Amino acid sequence: EDEKQKYIKGKKLGEGTYANVYLGHLRDSPSTLVAIKKIKVQKEYTEGMAPDAIRELKHLQELSHPNIISLLSVFSSKDQNLNLVLEFLPLGDLEMLIKDVDGVRYGAADIKAWMGMLTRAIWFCHENFVLHRDIKPNNLLIAADGEVKLADFGLARSFSDPYRVMTSNVITRWYRPPELLFGAKHYSGAVDIWSVGLVFAELVIRTPYMAGDTEVHQVNLICQAIGTPNEDNWPGVSKLPEYTVPEPPNPIRGRDHYLGTFGTAGPEGVDLLMKTLILDPRKRITAREMLEHKWWSSDPKPTRKEELPKKS
Ligand code: ADP
Repeated sequence: EDEKQKYIKGKKLGEGTYANVYLGHLRDSPSTLVAIKKIKVQKEYTEGMAPDAIRELKHLQELSHPNIISLLSVFSSKDQNLNLVLEFLPLGDLEMLIKDVDGVRYGAADIKAWMGMLTRAIWFCHENFVLHRDIKPNNLLIAADGEVKLADFGLARSFSDPYRVMTSNVITRWYRPPELLFGAKHYSGAVDIWSVGLVFAELVIRTPYMAGDTEVHQVNLICQAIGTPNEDNWPGVSKLPEYTVPEPPNPIRGRDHYLGTFGTAGPEGVDLLMKTLILDPRKRITAREMLEHKWWSSDPKPTRKEELPKKS
């Protein structure tokens, strides 16, 4: 209850879909900066805290890892709003670096370093039975020492109960895997792996790989870029509630196609990318398997975090 007395709220830093974010500092140590994220509580949840907000806290408080944003404190303000005190990470996010093609130059070793940090974050979430469910470059914040930190656990939830029906309307469309686009109600960590693969692809080509305008368009882009899901390459797919694919069907793209588009990641990098973008979630690589891939130890070695490019 005294938690809010420990922080002083400053100027507004930004506005997100379900929160306003303010700069803050410790009352007793004004040089210790924090970000205070004030969750907009939906009217329907007046008697308590918004379920999304509760989820964000639970998962964040339990997950302590160098590549996951740390939650320093939680308190509710007099207007019933929920305030999350987070590590202050003012150096922007991966999306800003990817987009600044003229100002920020980076190469294969840098991509390998960023992907290593993202993969370790997701491995840690999944080991702890947490799905992130909204991995995208804009949710990968950059710390002063170059460390990339996974943020925005608003949609995170535990998957400890595999039979619980889950909503398929999660994950920003461009990073959403085919099983969710087809309305699957039981899904796994594989949903995050697909998003990780698309972050990898985007780091290499510096533009979103599959930027659909609608869900139907997104499915069409997946069929074009990867291949058309069918009972041969994904047993059971045609039974999913919203399974529809465009005619004529496309065969699954081969290695040469990926080498042509993502060749700068090297053959091992392309191999790993292909395994993250397998249509059938049961065949898709897991975070643990990703960490065992030979790409990490092949040349070039990942850039040291202190030497990674930063926003100009
Ligand atoms: P979104 O993910 O839609 O950008 P957020 O609510 O996560 O929404 O954040 C809104 C803005 O607040 C961000 O774009 C960023 O500028 C700023 N912000 C969020 N978290 C932090 C943080 N930990 N440190 C510094 N700035 C932050």
